[in-house]
Amino acid sequence: MKLKTELSQIGEMRPGSLSQQYSACQKRGCKCVDPVKPKKHGPFYQLSYSHRGKSTTQFVRPQFLTQVRRQLAAYKRFKTLTEEWVALALELSKAKLEEARLAASKPKRTR
Ligand SMILES: [Zn+2]
Repeated sequence: MKLKTELSQIGEMRPGSLSQQYSACQKRGCKCVDPVKPKKHGPFYQLSYSHRGKSTTQFVRPQFLTQVRRQLAAYKRFKTLTEEWVALALELSKAKLEEARLAASKPKRTR
């Protein structure tokens, strides 16, 4: 089955989404509170995800961004493939039940 092969080839993965944040520390004299040309600190990268009903947000250091983005993409692929698998399983199950129902309703010819 093609789906199974593809699923087995998925590498490191993790659920979630990345967002960029900027912040102002509000310290006097800092560039972020400059009255003329304020420049906030950032970007900071935040990763948000929920697992088993609990949502979490954590910061991601810039040097891990590439790796994390790759893991997020792998997880999306995983989700797509498992959804396809479930859809196929449902179809197959439905077809089998229908087949069994038809077989049961057919008059039996034993003679
Ligand atoms: Zn500042």
